[in-house]
Amino acid sequence: MSEAVLAYLDGCREAVIELQRGLVAIPALGPDNGGEGEAAKYAYVRDYLQGLGFADIRDIPAPDARVPGGQRPNLAAVLPGMDASRTLWVIAHLDIVPPGDLALWTSDPYQLVVDGDLIFGRGVEDNHQALVSAAMVAGGLKATGGVPPINFGLVCVADEETGSKYGLDYILKSAPELFKPTDLILVPDSGLPDGSMIEVAEKSMFWLKVTVLGKQCHASVPSQGVNTLVAAADFILRVRGLKDDFPATDAMFDPPVSTFEPTKKEANVENVNTVPGRDVFYVDCRVLPVYQVDAVYARLKAIGETVAGRHGVRIEYEVVQMEQATAPTDPESEIVTRLRRAIREVYDVSARPMGIGGGTVAAYLRRRGLPAAVWAKIMHNAHQPNEHASISNCIGDAKVMARLLFG
Ligand SMILES: [Zn+2]
Repeated sequence: MSEAVLAYLDGCREAVIELQRGLVAIPALGPDNGGEGEAAKYAYVRDYLQGLGFADIRDIPAPDARVPGGQRPNLAAVLPGMDASRTLWVIAHLDIVPPGDLALWTSDPYQLVVDGDLIFGRGVEDNHQALVSAAMVAGGLKATGGVPPINFGLVCVADEETGSKYGLDYILKSAPELFKPTDLILVPDSGLPDGSMIEVAEKSMFWLKVTVLGKQCHASVPSQGVNTLVAAADFILRVRGLKDDFPATDAMFDPPVSTFEPTKKEANVENVNTVPGRDVFYVDCRVLPVYQVDAVYARLKAIGETVAGRHGVRIEYEVVQMEQATAPTDPESEIVTRLRRAIREVYDVSARPMGIGGGTVAAYLRRRGLPAAVWAKIMHNAHQPNEHASISNCIGDAKVMARLLFG
C-alpha cells in the first residue's frame, strides 16, 4: 500500500509547483506584520484539501478584531485510517513574514518562479513546503485508494510568525482534545539542508519592547532636550553583553549558546534637525533551558537603569513574548524513532535529535505533554530575500511523512 503512495509521490512535481504557485500568490501577513491575516489563504487551502478528499475539516477560528472578518483561521483536516483512535499530525503554518527590502529580491516575492528543482517566492520554504508535502501524501492516498494504518491529519495554523496566540496556542486552549498523547506529531518547520536535524528541544524565548523617553528639541540646541536615540544606542550596544552574564553552553543546541539580539527599531522623528524624545527598539533573546528567562529580563532592566542614569532618560518595558523552555521531547519517543527510520529510508541520512533557538510551535505541544518532533529537509533561507525551496525536498519530505504514516 505505501509503495503505491511512494510511487505516486515520484510523479508530483507539477502538482507541487501548482499548489506552491497558488499559495505564494496569497500573502498571509498577520496584523503585527502589517497584514490582514490568513483568511484568503485559509479559504484557498480549505478548498484544496476538500478536493483531496479531506471530508472531515474542523475550523477552529481565533477571534482577532484587528483583521477583516474578526478571526484568525485555523483548521484540522483528517483522513481516516484503519485505527481511527490514533493520528499522525502534520502541523503547518499559513502565515508568512514580510518580504523585506524588495530591492534585494530578483523577482516578485508573490509570484512563483521555477528554476529547475528550485522554486522562489515568499513562503515557499517557510512554511509552504510542509503544507504541500502533506497535501501530496493526501493526494497519494486518494489516487491509490490507500487507507493508512492510522489517521492522517493536517493542521494549518495562523499566527506562527508572531507568537502563535491566535494559532496553535489558541487551538490547544480551546480544543485541547484534538491531540492525544498517543498521536504522532510532526512539525516540518525547521531543519538542515541535509535533513539530519530532528528538533526535540527549544530555548526559552523572550521578546522585549524597550521605549526610551527623553525630551524632544531643536537639534541646534541639544542641551534643551534629552536625546533618546543616543540613549537607545547605548542600551543596544550593551545588550550583547548578556552573553557574558549567561555563558552556559549545551552541545545539543545549535548554536550551543544563548543569544541576545537587538532587532526591530521603530521610526522616531521625521526630520534631521530634531533631537528625538522617544525611541523604541526590540530585543530578541533565545535562552538555554538551564536559565530562567525572568533572570534575563531582570538583567536587561538593570542595564536600563544604568543607561537611564547616564543619559537622563526614562525607560519603559513591554514583554512581547516570554516563554520559558519546556521539557524536551524524549529522543527515544515513538515519533522520533519512527522519524529517524523514515529519514534513513528516504534520504539515506542518519538524523540526530537536537535543540534549536525556539520559535517553532512545538513548544506549545511539549508544554502539554504531547511529544512533537520538528523536522524538514530545507535549504534554510526562511525570512530571507529570494526565499527558495527544492521541489525534490518537498517530494522527499512527503515520502518521509508517508513512511511515518505506514510505520
Ligand atoms: Zn515557519
